[in-house]
Parts: sequence; structure tokens; C-alpha cells
Amino acid sequence: LKIAKFGGSSCASGEQFRKVKEIVMEDRDRHYIVVSAPGKRNDKDTKVTDLLLSLYDAVQNKSGAEEILEKIKNRFRDIISDLDLSISLEADFQEIYEKLLAGESRDYAASRGEYLNAKCMADFLGFPFVDAKDMIFFLEDGSCDFEKTEMMSREVLKDLDYAVIPGFYGANGEGATITFSRGGSDVTGSLIAAAVHADLYENWTDVSGFLVADPRIVKNPEVIDYITYRELRELSYMGAGVLHEDAIFPVRKEGIPIQIKNTNAPQDHGTMIVANTLKKPRFIITGIAGKKNFCSINIEKAMMNAEIGFIRKVLSVIEENGISVEHTPSGIDTLTLFIHQEELESHEQKVLQGIQRAVNPDLIELEADLSLIAVVGRGMKSSRGVAGRIFSALAHEYINIKMIDQGSSEYNIIIGVKNEDFNAAIKAIYNMFVLS
Ligand code: ADP
Ligand code: MG
Repeated sequence: LKIAKFGGSSCASGEQFRKVKEIVMEDRDRHYIVVSAPGKRNDKDTKVTDLLLSLYDAVQNKSGAEEILEKIKNRFRDIISDLDLSISLEADFQEIYEKLLAGESRDYAASRGEYLNAKCMADFLGFPFVDAKDMIFFLEDGSCDFEKTEMMSREVLKDLDYAVIPGFYGANGEGATITFSRGGSDVTGSLIAAAVHADLYENWTDVSGFLVADPRIVKNPEVIDYITYRELRELSYMGAGVLHEDAIFPVRKEGIPIQIKNTNAPQDHGTMIVANTLKKPRFIITGIAGKKNFCSINIEKAMMNAEIGFIRKVLSVIEENGISVEHTPSGIDTLTLFIHQEELESHEQKVLQGIQRAVNPDLIELEADLSLIAVVGRGMKSSRGVAGRIFSALAHEYINIKMIDQGSSEYNIIIGVKNEDFNAAIKAIYNMFVLS
């Protein structure tokens, strides 16, 4: 039993729908199909979810809504007429617009791309459509209600051999529509795979697997053939776009592998994401990923290690300001906090003064416009001098290393550089470990 999730570019047009159908029909183990909203058909195009969010805003501002609605309708009309589908969505368009005028939520608006697209895909494949609001549930605080989701997904699917399910959204206890964060269809697929104890969760996208580095930064990066959940978690958390960072948990609990596959090149092996693998990684490092726009707060105080509760006091100042810390490398007399720039922005002075008062440091410094890059790999543990090689790769490009920190797991090194060096640093690390 397989779950196959198709991303936005995989169902952006009639042409893409045909590829999906070929893939689904080729292996009848693909029982439950999860779809995203139609994505971009070319670089100038807009994703349907973005159009829906603009529609929501236009309704709030009472300006331009009809025009945006027309664009959305046309995206689906194009698919329906290209594929000669037997359904009409005109009544759905009308209902969505009326509900938005009557005050329906932003999440409801955002979710309609998946809803409408799943109806199209169900008709095209000849599978029943099942609404995610009957399967995926959220708690009061907006987080996923895993127990109810598991129970209801099983209940709904128990009499259905095949089905198409919209990704990205579900309902809360009151029946209101709630979405995951962007890219959340990946999470829907994972939840359903776990609920029905699938053998495999296939995630079909527009690249031939999880790549060693972001293809928008490194030209034609190598594909990672096997990767563990832990490695993947580090990479997706650090910004590798392919898979939503929360998609790993439901399947990981059940030990269900994820396979990343390319809708445009289904013959390619793609990436297998598994609990453990004895497969030797192709390179010393498995992957590189990074995020931009951090600030660092660097705190120095002689003998801070001997001071009981030092780190706790610093962190409680951060917590009181409602800020989360991304990374905290510490040295003998120094502690550094990496914080998302936009989170810190308005609280900057309050936070610095708070820390000053709480621990009376010798020095406290703030630096902005920094990036964090993670170099991840199960093979790094058994290989010496990885940090040294990263160091020399960056030095060779005259990149100033702001911080380098080996995580406790021994397969993760985090590097801090200036935003302006971000791309060059990733390229240099890639070249060092993959090309040489
Ligand atoms: P989908 O619409 O299928 O969910 P996404 O846009 O969410 O697809 O994810 C696929 C994209 O992720 C790729 O087109 C690529 O540009 C980007 N990406 C970023 N980092 C990586 C990486 N390490 N490996 C593969 N793709 C990556
Ligand atoms: Mg995605």
C-alpha cells in the first residue's frame, strides 16, 4: 500500500495531470493520492494558493476581488477543458466567493486550491474524492490532533480502495477550516500514510530527489540516494525546501520510508528516506542547507561556566520577550545566541538591557545580517577533519566564518557567515566535498 503525494508543479496544468495519471495507473499499489493546489506553469505564473490569498485580501479591502477570482476560475477551467473532465466547478467558485464575502477565514481561502484540484484529479483518475476536513483534525491551539486524525482517516478510508485527498488543510473541533503552514500537503500525505500503515510514502515533485544542495544555489547538484530521517530532519529544518519540516514525524513513528520522486522523470530512483541504512553515503557529507537573516547576540563574561544558572538567566530574558533562539554555540567564556532577525527587530533594546541586568556580562554585542548553514551527514562521524576542510574551503574563497559549531550528534556542523557570503559558502562547501 502506497500513498502518493503530488506537489504544486506536478498538477499545475492538464499536461502535468496526464503525467500523474500515468504514474498512478502504472502501479496499482498507489491507493491514496494527495494533491496540492496548482503551482506555477512557468516562471511568470502565480501559484493558485497565492491567488487565493490575494483574493482573501481583496475581499477584506473591498477592491479587485472579481478580477482575482476570474484568474482562479480560469486556472481550473483550463485544466477541466484540457482534460475534458465531466465535472463543473462553477457552483464551487460561487460558494467560495459568497463564503469569503460572508466573512470566512484566511485559512479557508488558502485551502480551496487543494479542494478544487483534488476534485479535478479524482474525476480524471476515476477515484472517489474525499474531503480532508473529514480526516485531518486540529486542536484548539492550531496544532494537529494526531489521535483524531489517525482514527478518522482510518475510518473514512476503510471502505475505499482508492481515493484522492486534498492536502494542506483539515478542520478543528468546531468544523472550521485550518491549514498547515505553506507546503503542508507534505504533512497531510505523511499523516495518511501513518494512519493506514502504508508501506511507502511517495512524494512526487519537480526534482529527481533530495539534492546535496539547493539547485537554485549550486548548479546541477548530485542526488542523495539514501538519507536517514535524522539527517533529513536537520536539512529540512535548516531550509532545504523539498519536504515540509513537519512531514517527517508521522511516518517516522511508524517506520514508513519516504521516497522523493520526480513527476517529470519517473524513471529516476529519487531519494529514499529511511530510519537506518547501512548504505554508505555517496560522499562524506549527505547534504548542505541554510537559512538567512539571523542576528547574533554575543555575550562574554569571565568564568561564566562557573556561574550557576547563567544560560538559564539569559534564555529567560529571551523567553520573556516571546523570542525563540535558533542556535546557541558556547565557548569557555562566551555564549552566542542566533535569533531570527525579524523576531528580534522590535525587541532589540529590551532584550539587550534585559540580558545586561540578568547576568551583568563583561561584553554584549549584536551583529545583524547573518546566515546559518548546516552541513549534515552520517558519514562525518567516521571521517576526520571535516570541520577543518570546511574551514579551508571557506578561507580559500575569502569568506569570513562568524561561527562554526559541531553539534552533539557528530553528524551536523553549523556555520555562521554573513548573508552576502551565503551562496558562495554553500558552493565552496559543495565543491570541497562533492567535486573534489
Ligand atoms: P512541490 O510543489 O512538489 O511540493 P517544492 O517547491 O515544495 O515542490 O519543493 C521542490 C523544490 O525544492 C525544488 O524545485 C527545488 O527548487 C527546491 N529545493 C531546495 N533545496 C533543495 C534540495 N536540497 N534538493 C532538492 N530540491 C530543493
Ligand atoms: Mg512542497
